[in-house]
Amino acid sequence: MRITDIRFERAAFGFEKPMKVAFAEIKDMETLLVRMDTDEGISGYGEAAPLPFVTGDDLDAAYAVGKALRLALLGQDPVALGGIHRRMDALYAGNGPIKCAFDMACYDIAAKAAGMPLYRYLGGDVRTVHSDVTIGIDEPEAMAEKAAEWVSKGFTILKVKLGEDIGTDLRRMQAVREAAGPSIALRVDANQGWSVKDTIRIAPGLEKLSVGLIEQPIAAWDWEGLREIKRTIRVPIAADESCHTPTDAARLAAMRAVDVINIKLMKCGGIYRAIQINAIAEASGIGCMIGCMGESALANVAGMHVAAALDNIREVDLDAVYILSGGPVRGGFDHVGGRATLGDVPGIGVEVDF
Ligand SMILES: [Mg+2]
Repeated sequence: MRITDIRFERAAFGFEKPMKVAFAEIKDMETLLVRMDTDEGISGYGEAAPLPFVTGDDLDAAYAVGKALRLALLGQDPVALGGIHRRMDALYAGNGPIKCAFDMACYDIAAKAAGMPLYRYLGGDVRTVHSDVTIGIDEPEAMAEKAAEWVSKGFTILKVKLGEDIGTDLRRMQAVREAAGPSIALRVDANQGWSVKDTIRIAPGLEKLSVGLIEQPIAAWDWEGLREIKRTIRVPIAADESCHTPTDAARLAAMRAVDVINIKLMKCGGIYRAIQINAIAEASGIGCMIGCMGESALANVAGMHVAAALDNIREVDLDAVYILSGGPVRGGFDHVGGRATLGDVPGIGVEVDF
């Protein structure tokens, strides 16, 4: 099978309400969808969802690099993912989101050609995933209200954005715990907003509130700081912005700097690299989470397939489909609260108007 064409289209959608995290307020979103055609009549879809302050690119950059990568991939076998990544990496370092778009389209094609839903193509035997849902930074009362609303919709895991003044942050978590009740699992994402000392100071308070995980408490570059925190506090910590690539994962694992790695297809360049990160983590006794950017159901459902397929991905943070609205992608899964069941059609299984 050979790739005969790759086309691009922008997709626009929005948050119900702007999502505030420690380093930004994210409003309406645009991502770049790609459609990859082959000489066997099978087409695959992929998505690039850059977040400039995390991935280092934006939509225009993804499109510009995408046009160059397209030329390198035309005529290639989409099922041969090793060769696809070798060709992309030979042209551009980094650029995870657009590489992810092409990688995702290749996997979609490969799974369709095999007649299997993607999770099965990746070796999985279950098609359910249980995601958290994210609450952005706001006043404690507003966050508590949001927590109660998600719980009433059947969500049982809440990921709470913090990363400001730790006194206020602790009040936010107290309000959320009170509103959510004792049976709801809580995790925290500080998005690099705290210092090492802040994290060590707030950790016992979070532990009392039965917070199960603290994600990316400090600056992305400060791996020694993560290790110091891991050695000092009892709540498990996760790397998100600190871990983009398999190499990052290997170094964090060697340093014993974190308990969990949050894999995102946009950071690492797609499913092929996500599988490598997960393998490094699993072999090092580190559990993985899979997370997402502001992205359409296409990338989000692709992430669900990866989560369903890989046993070591124990935490799922694929909630864009629950928080965002609009866009040209539909279907692919059913859900009750945060428990999603993937469809059984070949490939990623979403419908894309393009
Ligand atoms: Mg995060």
